[in-house]
Amino acid sequence: MEKFLAKFNHSQASSSTNGNPSSLIDDLNLDSLEADPGKRVPIAHYNNPRIKDEVRKHYIQKGPCQPKMDSYPPTKIGKRVRQFCKIWFEGPYSKWLEYSVEKDSVYCLCCYLFKDDFFHGSTSEFYTKTGFRSWNRALERFRKHVGDVNSIHNKCLNKMLDLSNHHQSIQVVIDKHSQKVKNEYRMRLEASIDVSRLLLQYGLPF
Ligand SMILES: [Zn+2]
Repeated sequence: MEKFLAKFNHSQASSSTNGNPSSLIDDLNLDSLEADPGKRVPIAHYNNPRIKDEVRKHYIQKGPCQPKMDSYPPTKIGKRVRQFCKIWFEGPYSKWLEYSVEKDSVYCLCCYLFKDDFFHGSTSEFYTKTGFRSWNRALERFRKHVGDVNSIHNKCLNKMLDLSNHHQSIQVVIDKHSQKVKNEYRMRLEASIDVSRLLLQYGLPF
């Protein structure tokens, strides 16, 4: 797919889009996309729907950014020192919770990818843009972010899972097709070897 996409200098994209929120990106190189959610370009900046779709599929395929570190930076909140806990990656938030090493903050993958389809505004931008790091109230705030069954987060999560399943179905078809081609090639190769053996056995020319 990359061959259809023009090469794109991501550092130029970051500086131009950060400096001007109305800047739109028409080209990209998928390899240049930032893994760290704190350094990503907002999804709305990808102007071309086809490119936006490729960016979404890329991040879905990679899965949420969940760096497992021995320790995370401590922050004094009130009288206590708190930090991010990696066990949160294993809980009910495992499909979408992301941690940015760059910003020492958490983000939501599905809201980053799809929130703009449902909502344009600054509400809950800390899950998509600025990050969230009130570690003393993390679980309570995660639950609040998820909300009820019709919440924007759950709509985004469903969209992400739909696209993921669709992509996997296509991959299965490609893999099956590849396996069929491999089997046919193996059969032709084995037939050629059998014929060669036979010709050698009877001293016949090839
Ligand atoms: Zn979310």
